[in-house]
Amino acid sequence: MYKTFLIKYAEIAIKGKNRYIFEDALVKNIKYQLCNVDGSFEVRKESGRVYVETDGDYDYDETVATLSRIFGIVGICPVELHEDEGFDKLCEAVIEHINHVYKDKSFTFKVNARRARKNYPMTSMEINAAVGEKVLEAFPETRVDVHNPQVMINIEIRPMINIYSEEIPGPGGMPLGTAGKAMLLLSGGIDSPVAGYMIAKRGVVINATYFHAPPYTSERAKQKVVDLAKKVARYSGRIKLHVVNFTDIQLAIYEKCPHDELTIMRRYMMKIAEHFADEDKCLGLITGESIGQVASQTMQSLAATNEVCHMPVYRPLIAMDKNDIIDISNKIDTYETSILPYEDCCTIFVAKHPVTKPNINRIKKSEERLNDVIDELMKTAIDTTEVIMVDAE
Ligand code: ATP
Ligand code: MG
Repeated sequence: MYKTFLIKYAEIAIKGKNRYIFEDALVKNIKYQLCNVDGSFEVRKESGRVYVETDGDYDYDETVATLSRIFGIVGICPVELHEDEGFDKLCEAVIEHINHVYKDKSFTFKVNARRARKNYPMTSMEINAAVGEKVLEAFPETRVDVHNPQVMINIEIRPMINIYSEEIPGPGGMPLGTAGKAMLLLSGGIDSPVAGYMIAKRGVVINATYFHAPPYTSERAKQKVVDLAKKVARYSGRIKLHVVNFTDIQLAIYEKCPHDELTIMRRYMMKIAEHFADEDKCLGLITGESIGQVASQTMQSLAATNEVCHMPVYRPLIAMDKNDIIDISNKIDTYETSILPYEDCCTIFVAKHPVTKPNINRIKKSEERLNDVIDELMKTAIDTTEVIMVDAE
């Protein structure tokens, strides 16, 4: 059983003078996430490395699963730390490590030594050759393959000697909280949870806004969105979710404006989401839109929707195919929830033949028909919005 994990991070290593900000955020996020795991953990920084130390019994699988959802981590290496007691002891430790970790010894390997501590009496090359020889002696079934080894035996000479041969991939990205905050328009569909995940992966804290239209949309449809937020929160941390009652605005649009001008509804969604984004000090909006996916996502429709926003709108799926989006939704485990059948508010009022190339001037002209009611309706929608703090499930 390993007592320690060596945490590898890539991109944050290149941030120059700001590097400590990213490392500190990563350490903080790891500490925070591990609070929910059985065991007692200590997280520490040591010259370009982060270590997670365990104390006593802990749940290995849950620990690894939790770490593999923390943005900024590219690799999770269960590692053995040994005092430097000379080269012979080092070889013994490596052989014991292999013996423990690999039942079947018929594999190819390479020794990959690194000296972070330059006063060690052998060079990396010398360590590679000498340890390799000892391994071959101890386990004659093994073979060396320096180009494509099945097992990479890593030895890092630091204050302590680090021995590890497994690396479990992390999600990559940047530590949460290092890049500001943004407002996700979260629906019950496949796309928007993926969009939120992708932007959170860049270190952005996510708030969310959902528009429902009771009684046209059900309580179950709302619960589905909360459930999706819980799934995303496993990666992004707690999500402040605004649930806006959009019914009266939708009915007004339906009564007064042409039914095929879908963009009008989208524009009011963006305006309200932006209101809460401003209030929550967000730096942008996020949607799950992708060029050409549906009528409301042609370049003309996107332009018309975009026109009401003064904040940047981040659309991480803009150039992705549906299949690639579905792959990510499966990976982050939102897919099964997203495909549950409960209606979302757009589908109720959706026209059979929506305009695919809206003309902004015409849309604005149609919107004038709402002039005498819309301010009041927007105010009511905003004032009656319910806020739910959604934690990871
Ligand atoms: P999704 O799968 O994310 O629901 P979609 O393919 O159904 O997207 P649209 O309905 O055109 O596409 O929605 C485009 C984007 O607008 C969504 O990705 C989401 O960001 C936002 N959106 C749509 N409906 C809602 C809603 N009811 N509440 C909040 N945001 C919404
Ligand atoms: Mg949708």
